[in-house]
Amino acid sequence: MVVVGAGLAGLRTAEGLRRHGWDGPVTIVGDEVHMPYTRPPLSKKLLLEGGDHAGVELRRRDSGHPLQWRLGRRAVASDLDGCSVTLDDGTVLCYQGLVAATGVRARRLPGSLDGPTAVLRTLDDAQALTGRLHPGARVVVIGAGFIGCEVAGTALSRGCAVSVVAIDELPMVAPLGPLVGAELRRRHAAAGVNFHLGTGIVSVDEGGVVLSDGTRLEADVVVEAIGLQPATEWLAGNGLDLADGVVCDEFLRLGGRKGTVGVGDVARFPNALYDATPRRIEHWQVAVDTSLYAAASLVGDLTGRPPEKPFGTVPTFWSDQASVSIRALGQPALATDVEVLEGDLSGEAAIGYRRDGRLVGVLLLGLPKRMGFYLKHLTDDLAAAPTH
Ligand SMILES: Cc1cc2nc3c(=O)[nH]c(=O)nc-3n(C[C@H](O)[C@H](O)[C@H](O)COP(=O)(O)OP(=O)(O)OC[C@H]3O[C@@H](n4cnc5c(N)ncnc54)[C@H](O)[C@@H]3O)c2cc1C
Repeated sequence: MVVVGAGLAGLRTAEGLRRHGWDGPVTIVGDEVHMPYTRPPLSKKLLLEGGDHAGVELRRRDSGHPLQWRLGRRAVASDLDGCSVTLDDGTVLCYQGLVAATGVRARRLPGSLDGPTAVLRTLDDAQALTGRLHPGARVVVIGAGFIGCEVAGTALSRGCAVSVVAIDELPMVAPLGPLVGAELRRRHAAAGVNFHLGTGIVSVDEGGVVLSDGTRLEADVVVEAIGLQPATEWLAGNGLDLADGVVCDEFLRLGGRKGTVGVGDVARFPNALYDATPRRIEHWQVAVDTSLYAAASLVGDLTGRPPEKPFGTVPTFWSDQASVSIRALGQPALATDVEVLEGDLSGEAAIGYRRDGRLVGVLLLGLPKRMGFYLKHLTDDLAAAPTH
């Protein structure tokens, strides 16, 4: 087996292959030099307090059959008909089963690759950024999605003066809608974040950024948090749909090909609890769920026991920002209607997201003890009749 990508999904899939009885060689290729680590602390605890790999390393489960690691090596090409993957040192790895687990990388502003801006995707990014968030530093965050808002909140906690610039009219409006976006803006602004929303960027230089409304913001640190780019280049030339991640079938096979699976942030897959539309979901728990399922699916395909039930999950996501813990259940972004189910939006609340009258997601602002209740409620609802 060859697993490309040594992150959360690559590790958990490799371990799953062992659990499902695959005792042949399993090679994991990763272009970072680190053993797999967990990323959520990179914008939270590690960015706030500093830290190293030991503090974020993922626990590895020993199966008695060791995994073979090829770290610091990038997969540059693949031949799915010939069952091989080529690495950046020219090595060709042949496989019976292939796992695509290459995740995403930070999307960059045009022309900014060699510029003065920072991004936050890897441990190295986080360590470099932490060292620059001094008390009093002027920080401009470009992008008001989850990562942008978490970085803004953490930088504020480190005593920085923080501005957030985004083309969207509200923070996190695409995944969570305007009702919650407005409330999160209120909370961040009350904490001291200075928002410039509905505004583009004209230029970035060593000393700051110029906005499309002509405003110049002086900055000691500029962080780009404008979204993510799936790492699929190595899969090109195989007839796969790579328009946004790699499209997988309902059993998580790459383009329906037996003997291959896609997992984690890079995979675009249908969710049997929702509908047949393939979507990418960049959540830690979904990386785990797809890995556990795909390991069984892949071993099943290779041993004549193909999977029977298509993949289905209720995605869950958490974020800590603006002094509130946010828990998203399901797929709020699919909703057409949003309502407060419980509590007070300006304090702690449960918000329901509906499409065609059916619940497709729930967001909790605080209310940690209600998580189990709403997860069961949503799961039961979705299982009763998937959305179409
Ligand atoms: C700062 C930050 C905060 C986050 N916070 C949260 C949170 O609070 N809650 C939540 O649910 N999720 C959060 N996430 C998202 C979560 O971490 C991801 O969903 C998860 O890491 C996905 O795992 P993955 O293995 O699919 O991808 P990754 O973790 O990105 O791993 C993919 C690996 O493959 C490597 N790779 C890429 N291309 C190649 C190649 N060609 N050859 C070899 N290796 C390659 C990459 O370098 C990387 O090491 C956060 C992410 C970040 C960056």
